[in-house]
Amino acid sequence: MTATYSKTRSSHSAFEALQCKECGAEYEPKATHVCELCFGPLEVKYDYDWLRKTVTRETIQAGPNSIWRYRPFLPVETDNVIDVGTGMTPLVQANRLARRLGLKKLFIKNDAVNMPTLSFKDRVVSVALSRARELGFTTVSCASTGNLANSTAAIAAHAGLDCCVFIPSDLEAGKVLGTLIYNPTLMAVHGNYDQVNRLCSEVANTHGWGFVNINLRPYYSEGSKTLGYEVIEQLGWQLPDHIVAPLASGSLFTKIYKGFKEFVEVGLVEEKSVRFSGAQAEGCSPIAKAFQEGRDFIAPVKPNTIAKSIAIGNPADGVYAVDIARKTNGNIESVSDAEIVDGIKLLAETEGIFTETAGGTTIAVLQKLVEAGKIDPDETTVVYITGNGLKTQEAVQGYVGEPLTIEPKLESFERALERSRTLDRLEWQQVLV
Ligand SMILES: *Cc1c(COP(=O)(O)O)cnc(C)c1O
Repeated sequence: MTATYSKTRSSHSAFEALQCKECGAEYEPKATHVCELCFGPLEVKYDYDWLRKTVTRETIQAGPNSIWRYRPFLPVETDNVIDVGTGMTPLVQANRLARRLGLKKLFIKNDAVNMPTLSFKDRVVSVALSRARELGFTTVSCASTGNLANSTAAIAAHAGLDCCVFIPSDLEAGKVLGTLIYNPTLMAVHGNYDQVNRLCSEVANTHGWGFVNINLRPYYSEGSKTLGYEVIEQLGWQLPDHIVAPLASGSLFTKIYKGFKEFVEVGLVEEKSVRFSGAQAEGCSPIAKAFQEGRDFIAPVKPNTIAKSIAIGNPADGVYAVDIARKTNGNIESVSDAEIVDGIKLLAETEGIFTETAGGTTIAVLQKLVEAGKIDPDETTVVYITGNGLKTQEAVQGYVGEPLTIEPKLESFERALERSRTLDRLEWQQVLV
């Protein structure tokens, strides 16, 4: 599972160039991310005719059980990629949660168990570091809200790359320890993510490192397309009707959309309209605000929420996310920190999945959209759960009850059991009055 995947087949790749998303100017695929003419973001361009002729459902299914089964759709030139078993996470039919909410066909795409570091970021980092190695980088880096730091440090360790990671200094203990264990250089910056990101742009210009989410961003962001491909494949080569996903920079959301469109374009799945709905925390909801106020620009905010992994106040892909939600007849909603905690608990109690604050945000927004009649109960709805709850234990500490401490004696157990049942009854009576 942790071997470097190396297959000998034609090295022809559909990956051609970088292209400006705004003006269409094309660039050689190097470590660059901004258009020199109009300052628009650069995106990877592929030869879709070649993909249509070359890739079939069968060739994909014959590939590895990881994101690299979609390698022709990813921005690498050779098959010598870093495969640490990332991707192909479970798509779980969530019947108990669906019944609780009044939905009929609800699925959870569970990246809380992605490999190797239990978040969706392993997808983007596997791609970015594979490309970084092709471009000759020996030191890799990132500006992170937590999960990206974990992924970059772990996968750099596996690939033998030097690694220097930047985080805001107030992150959860699990995110910090979950980075340090891989022994990178870890810079904890006094400031919020947006300040960390600005600092990293300066470092990228002066040190010549490969920053996965700055100068390698066009490659990095392509990794999120695999969350679209996998859902299509796992639904039996069909598109869902509605997806709900969290928004930080908005990249993940826009790339799921790109992934769906590409599979239609090359004939791997039948076209169908899919509604895209996004989730933010009230304490950092610049994209939700722009959507709700009908604006085409994002007004940056200062984050203040327990959902730190999605707390980006100045989101790079925010306008594109708003555009997709609008044109697909979706929504972008935000929820309070208290609702986020309830969302984490609801998913755990109904489906046995312990997610972090970003997942709590997404579940709480799902619930809000259902209650507002913005999700049709008959729609096949896929909810993206992007991170693991063991990394943000602070968020639910104090909201999960306590163990019943007993002596190693049968009567002590019986007494405790009776007490807990009495307490349950009392709680129920309080609910009823
Ligand atoms: C980074 C992150 C996201 C969203 O990232 P984008 O910047 O919008 O691509 C969502 N969930 C978790 C857990 C994350 O770490």
